[in-house]
Amino acid sequence: MSTDLLLALDYGGTKLSAALTGIGERAWRALKRVSSPPQHDAQYDQTTMRALAHKLLGTDKPRAIGVSFGGPVDAARGRVILSHHIPGWEETLLRDQLQQEFGVPVSVDNDANVAALGEYEFGVGCVGAIHESPLLYVTVSTGVGGGLVIGGKIYNGADAMAGEIGHTICDPRGALCICGRRGCVEALACGPAIAREARARLTAEPGGGAKLRALIGGNLDALTAELVARSANDGDELARAVLDAAARALGFGIGTAITLLNPQLVVVGGGVSKAGQRYWSKMCAAARANTLPQIRVDIVPAALGDDAPLWGAIALAEGVSA
Ligand SMILES: [Zn+2]
Repeated sequence: MSTDLLLALDYGGTKLSAALTGIGERAWRALKRVSSPPQHDAQYDQTTMRALAHKLLGTDKPRAIGVSFGGPVDAARGRVILSHHIPGWEETLLRDQLQQEFGVPVSVDNDANVAALGEYEFGVGCVGAIHESPLLYVTVSTGVGGGLVIGGKIYNGADAMAGEIGHTICDPRGALCICGRRGCVEALACGPAIAREARARLTAEPGGGAKLRALIGGNLDALTAELVARSANDGDELARAVLDAAARALGFGIGTAITLLNPQLVVVGGGVSKAGQRYWSKMCAAARANTLPQIRVDIVPAALGDDAPLWGAIALAEGVSA
């Protein structure tokens, strides 16, 4: 039996991860990830994660457990509100269930919030012994998520909805968003939005986008944000126009948030954030153009990648370990 162990659990939409480290350590003692089958449900997630955790722990008991969940969470009560992708998670008392099963303190929060805390405690927000705060974390992939760390803690807001930069509006007449409104940052800047916009432009401009067309073999259904980025970096003008517009939309949203919050550091991660130097420059320029000039802020790439929610979960676990 060991008492200095901390367990991190990350319930993602397409994969489940569990990792183990010791208090004060900066490397994993063990980490396991499993991809979820299509059309799985909450029951599958719960059973699989429990098995992963027990496999990692063996006969050991952790001091505490931190949990990152891919969906809205009432962090104060450790209650999952729902998952937008996986049925059956509605109103799940995840903290209480895990506390009962493992007999140790548990802390649960939303994945973007937890990733923000991970970057703050263990990633690019931590320089030597100094932590940069307030920190705004933004992730751009299939959606656009965000998290805020203020005074060393996740800022959840009154309804546990703080940090939702993806649903700040930058064009009220823009594309329809999954939230039902128009022109949200997510609707203009996420990976699927980039692919959708490229598809529309290729359809509307039969003579444009020669390099992008060649890359997808003429199959518009094969379009992804990654291929648009590759083509843009290869000089394709149509792909550049699409990617630049997405970078501007994200930068606009980040600039709005910077002006509201005056953070010390903005950390940008997620697959789309790696779309290349041109994308990054356009995004940063748009952010600065939408920020009051008196505000000095660094916008930097995320350091922890896929591990950010797990490290944030470790920080949550440290927070509740006695
Ligand atoms: Zn929205």
